[in-house]
Amino acid sequence: MKFQILTLFPELHPGPLASSITGRALERNLWELHAVNIRDYAGDRHKSVDDVPFGGGAGMVMKPDVLAAACGAFADLGRAIYLSPRGRPLTQSIVQELAGEKLLTLLCGRYEGVDQRVLDAYQFEEISIGDYVLTNGDLAAHILIDAAVRLLPDVLGNAETAGEESFSNGLLEYPHYTRPAEWVDDRGCTHHVPDILLSGHHAKINQWRHQKSLELTAARRPDLLNRR
Ligand code: SAM
Repeated sequence: MKFQILTLFPELHPGPLASSITGRALERNLWELHAVNIRDYAGDRHKSVDDVPFGGGAGMVMKPDVLAAACGAFADLGRAIYLSPRGRPLTQSIVQELAGEKLLTLLCGRYEGVDQRVLDAYQFEEISIGDYVLTNGDLAAHILIDAAVRLLPDVLGNAETAGEESFSNGLLEYPHYTRPAEWVDDRGCTHHVPDILLSGHHAKINQWRHQKSLELTAARRPDLLNRR
């Protein structure tokens, strides 16, 4: 899977994705990343990439001609995505769909955003990572890439399987426990692991986990249960 990034700060990529699971997968060529500096495609001697909005108002808007020239750096855009708070909220099912693509181009906005005409002309689909506003799309791109890359074949080892995680079955995941089975906190309180997890009875453990998933989802995200 290849990601092409259109950004004003190519040095931010791969950034945190160069470490740990995604970093090892990058080294093994399980995914690729090519970041292009939008500013390299600015035509004037000041290398301007933004201008004031028509109609007035605060902030600056990224210029369509510069963005179009930057898009031209790639022979093919594949599925073109503009990271934007106005976009379709990113969910695990969209991530699964994206992980099936061979080529994604991610446009990372800055300032007030980008000129609408370039989004229309290149048919950028807008995806949001949540109902809040970041200063930039580069961080949002990291999140999208991380979520998609971990679903690619051979990226996660057996120890980190994606199979039973939150959202994979429309539920939040059950709670986890590890050794020691009895843990004493700094106030002297002893905390036990639920007995069922020590029983070795796998069918009952699965039943308990499913029940906990349902309870957690009902308490924290009833909207997920309604959608199921
Ligand atoms: N004026 C825009 C609005 O109100 O919708 C916000 C622009 S924001 C300050 C600058 C850039 O950050 C955006 O162009 C976008 O690329 C990125 N960004 C901010 N919040 C985001 C979010 N929730 N999801 C994805 N990208 C986001």
